[in-house]
Amino acid sequence: MPQLETVGAPPLLEVKNVKKYYPIGGTFRRAKGFVKAVDDVGFTLNERETLGLVGESGCGKSTTGRTIVRLTEPTGGQALYKGKDLFRLKGRELQSARKDIQMVFQDPHSSLDPKQIVGRAVEETMSIHAIGTKRERMEMAMELLHRVGLREDQYFRYPHEFSGGQRQRIGIARALAVQPKIVICDEPVSALDVSIQSQVINLLQELQEAYELSYIFIAHDLSVVRHISDRVGVMYLGQMMEKAPTNELFARPQHPYTRALLSAVPIPNPAAKKERIVLKGSIPSPLHPPSGCVFHTRCPFATERCKAERPALEEKAPNHLVACHLY
Ligand code: SF4
Repeated sequence: MPQLETVGAPPLLEVKNVKKYYPIGGTFRRAKGFVKAVDDVGFTLNERETLGLVGESGCGKSTTGRTIVRLTEPTGGQALYKGKDLFRLKGRELQSARKDIQMVFQDPHSSLDPKQIVGRAVEETMSIHAIGTKRERMEMAMELLHRVGLREDQYFRYPHEFSGGQRQRIGIARALAVQPKIVICDEPVSALDVSIQSQVINLLQELQEAYELSYIFIAHDLSVVRHISDRVGVMYLGQMMEKAPTNELFARPQHPYTRALLSAVPIPNPAAKKERIVLKGSIPSPLHPPSGCVFHTRCPFATERCKAERPALEEKAPNHLVACHLY
């Protein structure tokens, strides 16, 4: 299946045909069926670029992120980083690649040990990768806390002494402690108040500039994704429905699913009218995905062909790929 490509230098990360299937009722060989959480997904990520991945809960966007860093093992596909397939690396090579690709999670509280001062939590990944002496790690952790908007003396505080927004700042400091090239941000602001969300987004943008980072930004909130992303991929039931540069996607959405998602986003000008596309039904179970186009059970334009034939993801305009028989 075609993947979204970008012109110029080779991409920093090239994800090709990634699959993550969960077997049902036994081991992989004896499975009675599979939940296809991610099915043939691909994209590229360039240096200092942000790629947004959007879709409703259960669309596979978070599993895609976790599979790339092998928090969960892939069923198939490739993730090429600096010419090496992350899915085939072992031992030291894998550890070294993992250092370069860090994650920021939705709920940093659950990944912080309540009995550990936050400074030590920031230092932990540096210790794993044998970075610096004990003293140097402490100095770097204090500097990072300061860089993400906390005070250096807060190094000695415990997670419960921080607000949700501050804990996410600690999560970001932790991810940056090993000087990664890529940060996969998995719903990093969705648990935060709206006012705090923009502060954390602004911080991520500042840090991207300062440390020349590339982000994969996973979120269900289209406004947030629009704000931070250079390009966007829209996922549904484990598959990529549409991919395009952000401005192009928001100005000229093609896929009926993308159009429905965008029609539900409030617009700042109350005088401006837009047609709301209401999707019928709920997302089908990934255990029994619809035949043909997985979106056909909810699509207002579905035809007999849609029920029988999975549409390929194809370039319909420069850098704008759509998986739909309408085009
Ligand atoms: Fe709708 Fe058919 Fe396009 Fe799928 S392929 S989005 S069902 S029109």
